[in-house]
Amino acid sequence: MASNDEHESRDWESFHQKAFFVDMHAHPTMPASYFSPVPFLSFFPPLKYLPFFPSFRRANQRDPDDLPSSRSYRGTSLSEFRTAFPLLQAGGADVVLTNAVVPEVSFLRAILGGRWNVRFVARLPLINRISSRYINPSYFDSTLNMMTAIETEVAEYNRFAEEMNRTSTTKRRLVEIVRSFRRLQEIRDMGGEGPIALIHAVEGAHSLQGDRAGKRAAKYQKYHLTAQLQADDEIKQEVMANLRQFCAMGVAYITVAHFYPNVVAAPCFPYPDYAMNYIDILGDPEGEQIHHDLALGLTPIGVEVIKEMFRLGMLVDVSHSTPRARASIYAIADEMNVDYQVIATHVGAYSINPSPYNLEDWEIEWIAQRKGIVGVILMPYWTQPQGRVLGIDFISRTIEHIRSVGGVNGDDVIAIGTDLDGATDPPDELAHFGQMPRLTERLMAENLRKEYKYSDELIEKILGGNAWRVLENGWRGNCAPD
Ligand SMILES: [Zn+2]
Repeated sequence: MASNDEHESRDWESFHQKAFFVDMHAHPTMPASYFSPVPFLSFFPPLKYLPFFPSFRRANQRDPDDLPSSRSYRGTSLSEFRTAFPLLQAGGADVVLTNAVVPEVSFLRAILGGRWNVRFVARLPLINRISSRYINPSYFDSTLNMMTAIETEVAEYNRFAEEMNRTSTTKRRLVEIVRSFRRLQEIRDMGGEGPIALIHAVEGAHSLQGDRAGKRAAKYQKYHLTAQLQADDEIKQEVMANLRQFCAMGVAYITVAHFYPNVVAAPCFPYPDYAMNYIDILGDPEGEQIHHDLALGLTPIGVEVIKEMFRLGMLVDVSHSTPRARASIYAIADEMNVDYQVIATHVGAYSINPSPYNLEDWEIEWIAQRKGIVGVILMPYWTQPQGRVLGIDFISRTIEHIRSVGGVNGDDVIAIGTDLDGATDPPDELAHFGQMPRLTERLMAENLRKEYKYSDELIEKILGGNAWRVLENGWRGNCAPD
């Protein structure tokens, strides 16, 4: 019995490691920004490398063969580094879309209890390093700072890994920020010898807002309602210039909505409904008023931004957008006859868990027809109805559902968007990236193989083949001639 299990585990593990794995949505940029080398203590150099303080850089120096157990990962904590580079290696990652997500001021107010507390916290010397880079500058500049942070960690890690590869028997895969599809293809052609590719992505089009557009979500909610924004040419020019700069830096997609209404789109409430109380811990009247208005969609500038993204060869991620905003994006793509470029990177299926965050069947079918992908998120609170705790099983149910409603293109529409390190709480079996082979184990399970005819080829498409097709055809990268 034991030897049989062992044989099976070798089968799916080696299948997973050989498959080309693309994670359409994860957040190594978050720990790189907040926990490297050690957050907010760098003003006092002796404290900088305190051994007890969580450090992404230190986590990147772990041995990739020495995987932490699920037990050390708790809830939505940000300081556990589920996407540390050795874990990406252990989990067989080949491409990871790494999202910069700048905390929206309204969100900070909601969790800190109002405007004056945010101002106070931003001045505290202990968090000054964070506030001076990611809170006080404009959303756009904060986003650039986050991208710099992950690029710095990649450079630091590669120095370390090259050094270790000279002396240690454990081979560490290098990591590279990839800015064009051409470079991505070169890396794939190297086979297993190539680096793990990280591609920049941006979560929340508030990141397009510079000093002119400002930060107030309430203002954009009003614009959504009045169409007043159309008149503001200066904001529009700033937003378009920032969009082109992201494109030139190799940003593959923007998840247009996030937590609050922004210059482009309005969001669904970003947590499951039962977490409403959680977000307003200390009560922020403005925050309460503006989140979660499903009557809002795209702004007039938003329409222009979506069109420009299609023209520039960027992908448009509809995750977090209200159903109304999503419908407008589909309509624009139909009008411009755009294939490959509309994606959802980290969602579940509405038919299984009826939350407006999740995609309805007609949307999945539409995305499949337009040759896009639907990246299935790992998180149980999106993949399964409230109160069930089946974890990984609901990931495969969601995958199978999306496949079945995707119609003739069903096999080609499924992808994976883990959302790890995005202050999210994955199932215990998939607590960190190093455990990703377990997803492949599930996809190779007998019932999926037999009942639903899961072939090796289909599993390879789910793990990365479909995402690759979208990157190849939808992300032209022609803004980034590197
Ligand atoms: Zn998200």
